[in-house]
Amino acid sequence: MPCSDKFDPELLTDLLPFYYNRLFPYEQYYRWLSYGGVPKTYFPYREFSFTLADDIYVRYQSFKDHEEMEKEIKRQKPHKIDIGAVYNFRPKDHRTVSVFTPKEKELVFDIDMTDYDEVRECCEGAEICNKCWKFMTVAVKILDTALREDFGYQHLLWVYSGRRGVHCWVCDAKARALSQSSRSAVAEYLQLIRGGENVSKKVSLQSKLHPSVQRAFKIANRYFEEIILEDQDLLGTPELWGKVLALIPDADIREALDRTMPQCVNSRQRWNTIQAEINRQVNKGDSKKAIKPNLVAEIILQFVYPRLDIHVTKGLNHLLKSPFCVHPKTGRVCVCFDPLKADDFNPLHVPHLGQLEKEVSEYDAKYNDTERSAVAEYKKTSMKQSMAVFESFLNRLGAENATRRLEEKDMQKTF
Ligand SMILES: [Zn+2]
Repeated sequence: MPCSDKFDPELLTDLLPFYYNRLFPYEQYYRWLSYGGVPKTYFPYREFSFTLADDIYVRYQSFKDHEEMEKEIKRQKPHKIDIGAVYNFRPKDHRTVSVFTPKEKELVFDIDMTDYDEVRECCEGAEICNKCWKFMTVAVKILDTALREDFGYQHLLWVYSGRRGVHCWVCDAKARALSQSSRSAVAEYLQLIRGGENVSKKVSLQSKLHPSVQRAFKIANRYFEEIILEDQDLLGTPELWGKVLALIPDADIREALDRTMPQCVNSRQRWNTIQAEINRQVNKGDSKKAIKPNLVAEIILQFVYPRLDIHVTKGLNHLLKSPFCVHPKTGRVCVCFDPLKADDFNPLHVPHLGQLEKEVSEYDAKYNDTERSAVAEYKKTSMKQSMAVFESFLNRLGAENATRRLEEKDMQKTF
């Protein structure tokens, strides 16, 4: 059901008790973060941090079990929940130990629409719409494929951040155990866009494309025309096409193309002209012109390849907003979604607290007490699709947990 009404952030404090009392999926959430209780300390040694009303930020919270976590969330009603690392000791008692250090955490990725401002014309800053969200769709597809095919990870939880981005939690046991330096290596491997605002050319490829880049390029290329040439119309004005031409490292070619651009009728025709000229130069093989065979691919990737916030990925003790908490501004739940259906995911249809409350009361009004209590509360709402994705992720993870439990038992027998 589309969620058309805007959420009034003033209502957050009133609606959070309803959400935490009736909808937050404590059981599944605990099942996820305890990883089958292998080892038993995994959940109690995990750091959570809460942002309470008036931006009071409380770090190093930890809970001994499901019941304690549920009780504390209901009592404190956090405006935001962040998940940190699993430490060598209970985070809430960290002051009582001499060595307190992070041991494990999911490998996480954070992609934020604000990092796409230089390639989108439709919105800026925290704003998003269906047009620029397509950048996220491409990011999900490229990253999801790379993590599965290049690293062999299987337990990926993709989550909408509630406003303008997505997070990916890689939950495989071997990903959770990665050291800080291995995380950095993975992040650097996946980082193709380099250089800040002052660097115009941000992608530089080897002459022989790495298979991972080749695969990313195929995905990027499928979306380039629709997103860049049609939706964003990034060759639509002299100022805009100037930015694309700036990526060509030869002044003569740049200037010649700049003179041709006004004769083209639209972005698509301008891109075809640019592409044809680059290819012509490549075929000519004039070494003075320095036109690399991969220049077209570099331009396409610069526009649509995921813009990763790699600091989040690199840090073992970096906190990240939890799935299923509520974005305080939009009131939207940070729901998970199926990466294979990323094209269909519409962030503007993600339910906010006001809508969820309405859906529960509409359901309850239709049925009697016995019928009402027979149904899990979230199933009365549009959270149910996202919960189905979460449940199927948990079932697959459960199989991995069971294998590790058996291995642990065997180890105990051996020693
Ligand atoms: Zn937009």
